[in-house]
Parts: sequence; C-alpha cells; structure tokens
Amino acid sequence: MHFCTFTYSVETNIFTVKMNKIYLDNAATTPLADEVIDAMVGTMKMNFGNPSSTHSFGQEAKILIENVRRQVADYLHVTPAEIIFTSCGTESNNMIIKSAVEHLGVERIISSPLEHKCVSESILDMKARKGVEVNYIRPNEKGDIDLHKLEELLKSSDKKTLVSLMHVNNEIGNIYDIKKIAELCKENNALFHSDTVQTMAHMDLDFSDIQVDFASCSAHKFHGPKGVGFAFIRKSSGLKGIITGGPQERSLRAGTENVAGIVGLGKALELSLNNLEAYTSHMQEIKNYAAERLSAEIPGIKFNGRSSEKENSLYTVLSALLPYKNPLIGLQLDMKGIAISQGSACSSGASKPSMVMMMVLSEDEMDHCTPLRISFSHLTTKEDIDALVTALKEISKDFVIENTNVEHR
Ligand code: PLP
Repeated sequence: MHFCTFTYSVETNIFTVKMNKIYLDNAATTPLADEVIDAMVGTMKMNFGNPSSTHSFGQEAKILIENVRRQVADYLHVTPAEIIFTSCGTESNNMIIKSAVEHLGVERIISSPLEHKCVSESILDMKARKGVEVNYIRPNEKGDIDLHKLEELLKSSDKKTLVSLMHVNNEIGNIYDIKKIAELCKENNALFHSDTVQTMAHMDLDFSDIQVDFASCSAHKFHGPKGVGFAFIRKSSGLKGIITGGPQERSLRAGTENVAGIVGLGKALELSLNNLEAYTSHMQEIKNYAAERLSAEIPGIKFNGRSSEKENSLYTVLSALLPYKNPLIGLQLDMKGIAISQGSACSSGASKPSMVMMMVLSEDEMDHCTPLRISFSHLTTKEDIDALVTALKEISKDFVIENTNVEHR
C-alpha cells in the first residue's frame, strides 16, 4: 500500500504532500485503521466525562472502558478484572517486573538476551536497586531458547523466581513456546511473565490454556492508537501497581484513563479478530513472496533466526541479512520512499549493535553484512515488495558481495 505524507512549514505557511511512500516497518508501529480514528473521534467529542465521576457523563465514559475490558478478557479467555489498561507495552512490562520484585518478593529473574529493552532494563534496574539475582539463557544461533536449560535453572534454586521470556521476538520474528514455558514454571513454582506485545491481536491467545501469570499489550502494533495498552495480571498472583494516587484500574494503575485510546484499542482488536484468518494468510503470502524474491534477486542474502520458517516465525516479520556492509541502507531506502528498519547490528560506531543481532550473527557477519527487518501488515502488497527488491538491487550494485567467505554462526 502506498502512503502520502503531509508536512507543514510554519515559516512559509506551505503544505508539502509526498506521494507513493511504502511502509514496511509494521513491527515498529502500524497505521491507524479509519474505523479506529472514527471511534476515537466520536468518543472524544461525545464522551469527555471523567470515568471516576459519579454523574452520567462520567458513567458513560466508564461504560465504554468496561466494554473494552470485557472484550479483551473474552479474547484471552480470562476475567475482566485481570485486564489493567496502561499507556503502552513498556509501562505494562515495567509494572509487572518491578511489582513482582517489590510486592511479590521475587528474588531471582530468569530471562534471555533477546528481550525488548523495556524488559531487560527493568530487570537490570531490579538487579541494581533490589539485589535481585538474574540468570540469562543464551539462545543458539537460530535464536532458540533451550527449555532443558530453563528447567535446569528453575530446579537449581529455592529463591522465589520470575521467568520473563517473550512470545515473539520483535527483531527476528521467532515464536517461543509459552505454553510449555508456563508449564515448566508451574511445575517449579515460579511466576511467568511473557512480553506478548508482538502477538496480541495477531494470533488466537487462550490464557485459560496457557498458564502465563503476566502478559503485555500495545495497541499501536495492530492499527490502534499509540499511548494505550494493557497488562494481563492473573488474579491469583496478587500483583500490585507501582503508580499510586487513585483508585482507577482497581488501584493497580492510578490516573485518569485514556478513554478514547481504550476505545481505539477495542476497535482495533475487533477489526483484527474479525479478519484474523484473512489477514494471517495475506501476510504469510506476502512474507513468502518477499523471501522468494529477495533470495532470487539479491545473491548471497540470508535470513536471520527462524525468520524464513513458517511454523517457528510470525508472519509479520522477515529478518534479512544483506551480504555486504552498508550502515546507510535505512537512509538510502528512505530516500527512495521505502520505510524499513535496519535492525541495528551496525559496526559503524554510530549506533550500537542490537543484542538480538549479537546473539544470532557471527562476528564476521556483524563486520561484513547488514541486517534488515522487513515487517508487514494486511495493507502490504506484492507491489510494495517488488519496489523494495528493485531499490535493493540498485543499492547493491555499488557493493561488493562480502559474505562469500564470511563465517556464519
Ligand atoms: N515489547 C516488544 C516486543 C516490542 O516490540 C515493543 C515495541 O516495539 C514494546 C515491548 C514496547 O511497546 P510500546 O511501544 O507500546 O511501549
């Protein structure tokens, strides 16, 4: 799908419209669905009441929030009381990890170097401030987590333990078996948090079957608004909030609710779930097409982690490795009208390599190759992929293929 962008200059009072831009960075964020915008605008106009007010304006806003809470709970097969609206995935993950330490007496956290920074830095904060022991499971070169190692670690200590392992990795798209991880945690009396930001609304999730204790969601990953998400907190866990100062969200997250944002989240979830089968098969087809065309047209290209495997990788992300070093690739593609995330395994000194890329790439690959994260939505077309391939072929002409002798992990 082609997008146009509008910029406005205050100095010249001129609007500029740029046509035909292609967006392939849907793991970073997705465009808002029109229906979501309409629902939010309607709410902002008609339902400005404070949901904590007891008069009808307040109660109408409150009903809107509770309807979305029920809708989310139905999707996850949990109770509405277990859904706490927050401002984003980052806040949800911070809240869960920090509160598990501060309020549930967690003394040890088991995690992996593949986690999003909002998880890994929350864990490091708890290590620095609360003296929590942290054990990491190092993934293999495909980005797999060894569950025998997890079991071994779980059995190795009597300390109260939280396991924090994500459902789908945002850089390479690997899917992790959170049902099995939850079972191991239950058997060994540990709590289990999973960062589910990349999977909420992208697949069926049944938390009456998957015994996860805590999970997170961010609406802007599925065509909802930024600035709103939720935490799933299993009732039996006893977790408390870290933002205090009001009774909102059952006193787990004080602060006047983002009513329009929550309505937008609900509308985006409804659209995703109503179209789940169609969206999934469309994106899977686009991803296969992208992998095939790139393999055929860019000699020496390879794919990172489990990215090109249908069963073990989410249909939204294809992580590629170009066979030459070009730290400016993101900028060059942007200048050709294609928005894409470079991944960040860059040895230019300008940006630090991402931990995920450091785990799945060899040192040689880090030095001589360029990662590229291509991420799709139901709006992505084969023409978008064709345009990407053409642009990459043009850019690649200027580079010598370096990876023929590169040692892979
Ligand atoms: N966790 C994962 C796996 C993500 O991909 C992201 C966003 O990129 C986040 C957490 C943070 O979500 P938010 O942007 O809502 O703070």
